[in-house]
Amino acid sequence: MVDQTIWLAPKAISFTAVCAACADEHGFLAARVEGRLELARMHTSTTCSRGHAIRIERANHEPIGVLSALSAS
Ligand SMILES: [Zn+2]
Repeated sequence: MVDQTIWLAPKAISFTAVCAACADEHGFLAARVEGRLELARMHTSTTCSRGHAIRIERANHEPIGVLSALSAS
């Protein structure tokens, strides 16, 4: 299995993304992953509801692969 990395916008503090492994197996709508990354932190990790590991990294520019994010500004 390939680990997935999700890139967050520079000021994003929460996110909704898609677990690629679940999307492959169960379809896009079954694969939502929600989480939170405080502004002071540059990375974290999470798992989807089925246990796939997902890395969360804060990007220096606009992200790829994030459906929506709440900005702190
Ligand atoms: Zn998954």
